[in-house]
Amino acid sequence: MHEYSLMQEVVKNLLAKLEEPGVATAGSKLEVTLKVGALAIHSAAATRQAYEVLVKGTKLEKSRLNLIVEPLILTCPNCGFSGPLPEGAVDPHEQLPLAPCPKCGAISPVAGSRGVESIELVLE
Ligand SMILES: [Zn+2]
Repeated sequence: MHEYSLMQEVVKNLLAKLEEPGVATAGSKLEVTLKVGALAIHSAAATRQAYEVLVKGTKLEKSRLNLIVEPLILTCPNCGFSGPLPEGAVDPHEQLPLAPCPKCGAISPVAGSRGVESIELVLE
C-alpha cells in the first residue's frame, strides 16, 4: 500500500526525533504537521488511517496528525488556465498525469509533488 510505506518512513523519522536528548515528551501533547504532495498519496483518509495504525503502542500514540496535502496543479496549454485540482483527480501511479482542463476540457498536464514536503513536530 502506497500510503502505508510512506507513513512508515514518516513515523520512523518522528520517533527518532523523540529520542533526541532534550526532547521532553512526558505529559506534553504532540502535534504532527505533515505536508505531502498530492501525487505521494491516493487519499488523505488512507494516509490518516496508516498513521493511526503505525503509531499504536509508540510515543506518538496520542499525537494529533495535522495532514496538509499540497494540491495538484493543472496547466492548460490550450486556454492558459492554471489552477489546483481536487484530490483524486488523477491516478498517482501515472508517470505523467493528465486531466481535462476545467475551463475548456483540453487534456492537460498535471503537476504535483510525489514526496513528503515537510514534517513538523510540535510539543504543547
Ligand atoms: Zn483549458
